Amino acid sequence: MKKIIIAAAMASLLAGTSCSKPEAPKAEEFDYVVDHFADIEVLRYKVPDFENLTLNQKILVYYLTEAALWGRDILWDQNNSNNLAMRQLLEAVYTNYNGDKTDADYKAFETYIKQVWFGNGIHHHYSTDKFTPAFSRDFLNAQIAALPEGAAPANTDELVEVIFNPALDAKRVNQDATVDLIATSANNMYAPGVTQAEVEAYYNSIRKPNDLTPISYGLNTRVERGADGKIVENPYKIGGLYSSAIEKIVENLDSASHYAENDAQRQIIGSLIDFYRTGDLATFDKYSIEWAEDTLSQVDFINGFIETYGDPLGMTGSWESIVNFKNIPASERTETLSAEAQWFEDNSPVDKAFKKDKVKGVSAKVITAAILAGDSYPATPIGINLPNANWIRAAHGSKSVTIENITQAYDEASHGNGFNEEFVIDEPTIKLLDDYLFITDNLHTDLHECLGHGSGRLMPGKEDALKEHGSAIEEARADLFALYYLADPKLIEMGLLDNPEAYKAEYYKYILNGMMTQLQRIEPGKDVEEAHMRNRKLIAEWAYEHGKDANVIELVKRDGKTFIQINDYEALRGLFGQLLAEIQRIRSTGDYAAANELINTYAVKIDPELHREVLDRYAKLDIAPYKGFVNPVYTAVRDENGKITDVTVDYTEGYIDQMLRYGRQYNGLK
Ligand code: ZN
Repeated sequence: MKKIIIAAAMASLLAGTSCSKPEAPKAEEFDYVVDHFADIEVLRYKVPDFENLTLNQKILVYYLTEAALWGRDILWDQNNSNNLAMRQLLEAVYTNYNGDKTDADYKAFETYIKQVWFGNGIHHHYSTDKFTPAFSRDFLNAQIAALPEGAAPANTDELVEVIFNPALDAKRVNQDATVDLIATSANNMYAPGVTQAEVEAYYNSIRKPNDLTPISYGLNTRVERGADGKIVENPYKIGGLYSSAIEKIVENLDSASHYAENDAQRQIIGSLIDFYRTGDLATFDKYSIEWAEDTLSQVDFINGFIETYGDPLGMTGSWESIVNFKNIPASERTETLSAEAQWFEDNSPVDKAFKKDKVKGVSAKVITAAILAGDSYPATPIGINLPNANWIRAAHGSKSVTIENITQAYDEASHGNGFNEEFVIDEPTIKLLDDYLFITDNLHTDLHECLGHGSGRLMPGKEDALKEHGSAIEEARADLFALYYLADPKLIEMGLLDNPEAYKAEYYKYILNGMMTQLQRIEPGKDVEEAHMRNRKLIAEWAYEHGKDANVIELVKRDGKTFIQINDYEALRGLFGQLLAEIQRIRSTGDYAAANELINTYAVKIDPELHREVLDRYAKLDIAPYKGFVNPVYTAVRDENGKITDVTVDYTEGYIDQMLRYGRQYNGLK
């Protein structure tokens, strides 16, 4: 799998902390929590300082947010071929229902449609398992029978069968490498009947040997079988797949380009439009290079087929967009780190052969998200590090961002939820977390994104050598880099921390999360599958095992409950350094066997007893394991000639209203 990413699940670290941030607004001034259902909590986020942007910047943001929202249905269709029709059916039932709203079947149906909205389809956004309905088939059939003429899609019977038959489309992305990954994954990036072996053979046949600047094969295509039975790629582009939605995206990008902050940004938007018109991946690389090199514009965005987690083979990008602008005061922190990138590279515990002689252009900033869309909505990353192509990163640098208005919303929403009291071993440790977790967590994200992913050197031809373990190993590399340096006196010297003990807050929380609390996201009996979760379990369990003789990390039992006690933080840092060196070696040399061994020993299997305990303790707290967001609503204020004179932001739209409105307003594939 490709390079990466997004530190998607730090939310679980942040959820459950009560941190002090002096300038943080009081929770009661702004209602962060919007909705709560199943395992999900929906929050809203603020867009501080939007009103201080220039009118041109506001209009630019406005058109970019429109371009973002128009891609929504592309993602829904990529996730599963039934998703759009399914949404039409579910929304028709939901909006036409006029029975008893306290009825158990109705309430279960409402939960189900909320889950489907959140998952951008019928599968859970994180586990990728299909949702299980808790309402009866008879209930749904009765509602469908009562729908007005034409409200339900033509294949309604099939859709009902998909909802109720657990064997159909059971998992969106299957990662169990013992079976055909394509045949057993329910996503729509491959046509039915296409096999994994055929697809791999196809890509091997078109890859140029020794290509130093490879295009991102398959990034924007659905793989199908041609009339002659051979494998072909059907590109997402104007005139190709998803044309009507892409046309709306391009129309708004074009409007945005008239308000670009500078020529470089106008060029970037132009290149992206060219890519959407041609589907040419070399043009996408051109765009990515221009984008990586633009560090001057305050407003920025990603828009396109970017991350490949939705494809079990890690080839095809799921459509997403985030529009944002730089948080100038907060960016001083990441700029300070970036300026020292070479020092961090030179002083890491990694073998010299796997280090970069010259770390290029690690550009880091703190941003304010203005809109989340496609695969970044409603669940969203808190950091981004792009572009993904390794050769572009090496030659042209990459951009790394921390989305602080999102981390702030997580933090604000989690005050007083009882997490620390339940899971943290003692009062002094709770105090440590209160004082230092927010800052060390943000610094961890900065180090992970700005320096971790950008560090290290890959031996030629090893890009995809770790196959299905590539993402987890890459995340482990970036996390270990961050953990190792969080405890370095350098951060105090640089003025980023004011206490040499501060790092212990993040260390404690990391081990607690990796060994215990993240298991809350997993159903009993299941394995850990998601890359970031595997990475965290790998690091925590490995450190526990390798520190056993010296009793570095101890599992303390008290009243039948398990607590993490860290006896030697310095030794723990040493262990992180040791594992970093090994993980970097694995990544640099493409040592699949070693990656496979590490992952299978430490990252996948869960002790069922500890798992049960964590789930029980969590259940008492009523904290949702997953969180996501509704977007603010931007409105262009126009004068009598239609000219935009201002753009306003409103935060009051609720979850259901937003989902129904997006469905009506941005149905680009209809
Ligand atoms: Zn990452």
